[in-house]
Amino acid sequence: MVRKTFRGTFTQQEPIPEDAIERAVEVMRSGRLHRYNIADGEVSETALLESDFASYMGAKYCLACASGGYAMHIVLRSFGLQPNEPVLTNGFTLSPVPGAINNAGGRPVLVECTRNLVIDLNDLERKIQQSGARVLLLSHMRGHIVDMDALVALLTQYRVALIEDCAHTMGAYWGERKSGSFGVAACFSTQTYKHLNSGEGGLITTDDSALMANAVIRSGSYMLYGRHVAVPNASTFVDARLDNPNHSGRMDNLRAAILRPQLKLLDKNRERWNLRYRAVEAALRDIDGVVLPQRPSKETYVGSSIQFLAEGLDKENVQDFITRCQARGVDLKWFGSHEPVAYTSRHDTWRYVEPQALPQTDAVLDKLCDMRIPLSFSVEDCRLIGQIIAEEFVYSVTGSEHHC
Ligand SMILES: *Cc1c(COP(=O)(O)O)cnc(C)c1O
Repeated sequence: MVRKTFRGTFTQQEPIPEDAIERAVEVMRSGRLHRYNIADGEVSETALLESDFASYMGAKYCLACASGGYAMHIVLRSFGLQPNEPVLTNGFTLSPVPGAINNAGGRPVLVECTRNLVIDLNDLERKIQQSGARVLLLSHMRGHIVDMDALVALLTQYRVALIEDCAHTMGAYWGERKSGSFGVAACFSTQTYKHLNSGEGGLITTDDSALMANAVIRSGSYMLYGRHVAVPNASTFVDARLDNPNHSGRMDNLRAAILRPQLKLLDKNRERWNLRYRAVEAALRDIDGVVLPQRPSKETYVGSSIQFLAEGLDKENVQDFITRCQARGVDLKWFGSHEPVAYTSRHDTWRYVEPQALPQTDAVLDKLCDMRIPLSFSVEDCRLIGQIIAEEFVYSVTGSEHHC
């Protein structure tokens, strides 16, 4: 049997579309890169991006800013988070999430995750009762969307506000509603490895006029909020402009210029991602000991990464399996390591967070493998990747080559 090796690069994104490059060059030729640096009567590229994204999301207001992590931080502050106030969040997420809570002066209260990689609603209810928190910063981690109907009912019952971290669900839906339209505000990232690529960048959407006015001032608008389009009217800013510090973290016109044409491709790219996702998934579906998260029928996801539990392997063998995949060019990440590696880190390595026992999450993370699916890979590439993972998994379980 020929053991094929994959030659692609898991961190290689597609090029920026030509029309976006052209627009970026125009912005550079103008010299007006700062979002408030406009010619007479001009609406800046950044303000246009905000109004484009607000209409894409069906939201009243939108603010573009420096990063996804910054967006979460500024939303928590604009919500009125008090020093040391508890903030509920996922025990399984990426480090910018607890980092944003820390930056906003809050105290993360970590909630268990299920084997389907979503927040555990029973544990959430317990933690709401124990902590008395007023707010949940919900990470739709790796694009897995919890039952939003049940979540919203629970939060409504306890009057807990929802802020959505949609870094992995930009372009996704729960039922007919876009991920990011369920809470008081939603935060998005346009960092290179997310669904739109401007290197760095963040977007906030909300229908709450006071929150948006606070966020605009905090993002560093000086008194130039009149140059925004997707914001509430001037009267909302009367107090906001004096009450809020300037936490300088704006987006610039160059990034906005390369994002606007990409936004038009997002829905088509969701389908391209999902073809690739399904090609990898199909190769893993029938492998004994590989557990794929069950995805509810109401979820329309964006398959920009894939996760599975290596249930058939014990901890030592998972590392060995990952190494064997890597030797054949397949870059799997593992959340089981107690040393943070690349983007993976476990809650117990966030030493600035009060230690919290999450036995259920730990058991999931011990087996959890994760892989990026960049659009630069073809569907054929993804079939090969799936085959390699399947072969190496079977080898790791049985200690012998898998003959298909
Ligand atoms: C990337 C990411 C963020 C933050 O985005 P940045 O733009 O890198 O700050 C937030 N949450 C999750 C789950 C992420 O993966």
